[in-house]
Amino acid sequence: MYGYGGSILRVNLTSGEIRREPLPQELARDYLGGRGFGAFLLYREVPRGTDPLGPENRLYISSGPLSGLLVAGAGKCDVTTKSPLTGGYAGASIGGMLTAEMKYAGIDVIAIEGKAARPTYLYIDDDRVELRDASAYWGKGSLTTEKALKEALGESFQIAAIGPAGEAGVAYACISHDFGRQAGRGGVGAVMGAKNLKAIAVRGTRSIPVAQLERYRELARAMYAACKAAPGLEAWQKYGTAGVTTWANEIGAFPTRNFRSGFFEDHSGLSGETMRAAIVVTDKACFGCPSPCGKYSYVRKHGVHVEGPEYETTALIGGNCALASIEDVAYANYVCDELGLDTISAGNVVAFAIECYERGIIGKADTGGLELRFGDVDVVCTLLRQIAAREGLGAVLARGVKHAAETFGRGSEAFAMQVKGMEMSGYESRHAPSMLLSYMTCDVGAHHNRSWAITYDIARGRDAVTPDKAAKVIELQHIRPLFDCLGACRLQWVELGLDLGHYAPIVEAITGLPRSWEDLLTISERVWNLTRLYWFREVPGFGRAWDAPPPRTYLEPVETGPTAGKRTSREAAERLLDMYYEQRGWDRDGRPTPAKLAQLGLAGL
Ligand code: SF4
Repeated sequence: MYGYGGSILRVNLTSGEIRREPLPQELARDYLGGRGFGAFLLYREVPRGTDPLGPENRLYISSGPLSGLLVAGAGKCDVTTKSPLTGGYAGASIGGMLTAEMKYAGIDVIAIEGKAARPTYLYIDDDRVELRDASAYWGKGSLTTEKALKEALGESFQIAAIGPAGEAGVAYACISHDFGRQAGRGGVGAVMGAKNLKAIAVRGTRSIPVAQLERYRELARAMYAACKAAPGLEAWQKYGTAGVTTWANEIGAFPTRNFRSGFFEDHSGLSGETMRAAIVVTDKACFGCPSPCGKYSYVRKHGVHVEGPEYETTALIGGNCALASIEDVAYANYVCDELGLDTISAGNVVAFAIECYERGIIGKADTGGLELRFGDVDVVCTLLRQIAAREGLGAVLARGVKHAAETFGRGSEAFAMQVKGMEMSGYESRHAPSMLLSYMTCDVGAHHNRSWAITYDIARGRDAVTPDKAAKVIELQHIRPLFDCLGACRLQWVELGLDLGHYAPIVEAITGLPRSWEDLLTISERVWNLTRLYWFREVPGFGRAWDAPPPRTYLEPVETGPTAGKRTSREAAERLLDMYYEQRGWDRDGRPTPAKLAQLGLAGL
């Protein structure tokens, strides 16, 4: 099949059986790749009611039709599973080199099921696929494991690994790759750990067949040329995502002290400029990327190298835990990476625990004598290590902020910043209704990357609660996740303004299948509705209440900064949800209607 590796690699860790099956053409036609493959296979193959950390759960690592080809940003793959954090759908994107190497080994999807009897890693060298003993790596950090496996197997292998947090089943453990890239959200690393799978090592040497070679080359060259000519390239390459830190603070969106505020008074120590000057050693890119946002840094004060920190880490570990030094944030970033923790959820959980302590909801009897306070990197890193080991207070915090609030009680649910059980990413959105709606309706929980609508709030008026805001969120929820189906990065479009008109022609040239942009968006909408059906199937009582914003966003006005005194009322949030459901073709409980399912070819699922 043009544009694809051509196979699904099935790995049963219980029986040790490994087999390849041809990639079904209909799967490529209807679901495109990446996130689409993962969502379909999860829905079809993982039985209703499966324990996320049980052997029946499966982990799908899926590339897309652009992955591994010389297309701007074609270095992404998608990790899909049933989430141990939320109990619903988990889909996490990961950059680096893994997706290209999978395609060169002729693999579109690695589908992992069962549980190995002992620590194991999956070795793939083209057609040679083996399960190997990983006892020597168990207990080691993600970065340490990646380095050790590269030393053992050779630099040409691409490694994805988990750290101690994944081994211990921390509900927001991530899968790490390329020394600082993560499939971060939803606990995909815990699912890998529950299967006793420490790592995946892959190398491939095949070509990817392309339907219209000359046309592909021409279109790909045009994409690179457009990226290289983009006025925003220089700043993007210099600061990466950390470049938005100052802007986010200026508009009151920088989460601070557990989202009490969107303005951090000490933010200058965390700006992209400060980071570049203080710690960045060099730039770092994913496969095929013309606009490297990765920053490889050296933290002299703590003596460690780390990729980043990127914006989300600066926001959630920095402002949200009130760490004012980029070196301290970078060090906590390193600790998270080595332990294998998602920095977004971890920053939320730590900040939540500190607020609980400040309010007297928990005390020294709960913390083992540790005095919790904002702005202290030792407190942050101590809690991170306790979480990864599930020791002391860490045993509660390891299950996420929703679980911690249910355990601590005493009103703490109101400031547990989560939707569907997933902690909120880095945009305080009480005065940004579109962004708030993006969090409420995101298909994995309170994550920003499906719809980053905060700029629309600013352009349209931040107080407005109008149907066009719901429409914008839906539009973004179709465009942005489409990149996760393509196996490509969206940031060339978002940050460099690369015209979306490039994508359909190059998909067509590569795969040979005629596709318009509208066809691609329909696939994305199909996947969005399928993940919604998955939530309804898996979570008892799922519906409108699961799309509610965190109570802090409507109960408490922002404390300080340019949005001080602002909040979005619960009534306004519900009105937005009504508009959103109606425009999506869902009923008042948020369930896709039969007509919508029929329109998308999902009837009867
Ligand atoms: Fe990777 Fe950043 Fe390039 Fe996207 S912009 S492909 S995330 S390096």
